[in-house]
Amino acid sequence: MSKIPLSKSHLSGYELAYIQTAFQRNEVSVYGENLTGFENDLEKYLQKESKVACTISGTAAIHLALILANVMKGDEVLCQSMTYAASANPITYQGAIPIFIDSEKDTWNMCPKALELAIKDRILKNKKPKAIIVVDLYGMPAKLNEISSVAKKYEITLIEDAAEALGSIYNRQKCGTFGDFGILSFNGNKIITTSGGGALVCKSEKDKQKAVFLATQARDDAPHYQHSTIGYNYRMSNILAGIGRGQMEVLDKHIHLRRANNKFYQNLFKDVEGITVLKEPTADYFSNHWLSCILIDAKVTGFTREELRLQLEKDNIESRPLWKPMHLQPVFADCEYYGGRVAEVLFNNGLCLPSGSNLTDEDRDRIAASIMKLL
Ligand SMILES: *Cc1c(COP(=O)(O)O)cnc(C)c1O
Repeated sequence: MSKIPLSKSHLSGYELAYIQTAFQRNEVSVYGENLTGFENDLEKYLQKESKVACTISGTAAIHLALILANVMKGDEVLCQSMTYAASANPITYQGAIPIFIDSEKDTWNMCPKALELAIKDRILKNKKPKAIIVVDLYGMPAKLNEISSVAKKYEITLIEDAAEALGSIYNRQKCGTFGDFGILSFNGNKIITTSGGGALVCKSEKDKQKAVFLATQARDDAPHYQHSTIGYNYRMSNILAGIGRGQMEVLDKHIHLRRANNKFYQNLFKDVEGITVLKEPTADYFSNHWLSCILIDAKVTGFTREELRLQLEKDNIESRPLWKPMHLQPVFADCEYYGGRVAEVLFNNGLCLPSGSNLTDEDRDRIAASIMKLL
């Protein structure tokens, strides 16, 4: 039996025409109509006067956001602990210091209370944080109103890592547009892909232009190569942007299919005691359900998260524990942390289930049959 992956690239067939045009026009570098076209598509999709600069990865976009937020060596940046390492790594590229914040139980994202406690304590220690990185993990919007209010109250730059949440909505506003900067990822496993790529979402054309300048080696306006600041080679290529334009045509379809997967799991587990599927806490939240995730109370089910994972693996079905919180990672062992054990308990008991937009009915039957063996 073939492997059922957690989340796989899902190409539409529309991508090749855009790539062909790029070849015909000899636009294979970091300039061309696919790049402007893809950025326009994203700006139209996100609204809120978003200005989008496409990059080689979501990680590069976070790095640029930190630079634009003026984060420098020795500065402190508050970051959601329950996330993928790419949210936190760029803090260290700047020589800055990550400080991790616990999650809350409704969305599994940054706890606004723990965030405010952390800010107050850092200010007391005379180290006011330079930026906050909040994440919409698995596509679920964080408590973005409360997080934004805290950021505004203390006048700290907010960066929204919406790498997993393109198409998710909170309070009728698209994820990726809540912070001073937002970031998206088009990695192969995300809801749409450019094979690899990302985007920085800015609030002004000026910031977008600054990001593009930094992403193309910070070349001053001169006939010769002249540089007054350190630059990066972070710009997306016009070829990859062509893949992105083809994927934008099916973004809404992908969201619909991922949400249908979530419904399938809600239904599968609705009468199962001890297993809960992560769902939108209120009608204010709309998740793209990039990944569908469950929590297992082993005392009730009689089996652990790991036992279920191994059962699925035996049947050639990929699942994965929830992302291990950053404050528990060996590489960040020395970093400070604010909060309780919410993220840790989620990690110990949570599992991500196959969620691709290309799952078939047959795949879902196999997943259900495999899980039923334990129930
Ligand atoms: C994928 C991801 C990123 C990084 O995106 P890349 O394009 O892979 O660099 C950042 N944050 C989160 C939460 C992600 O899932």
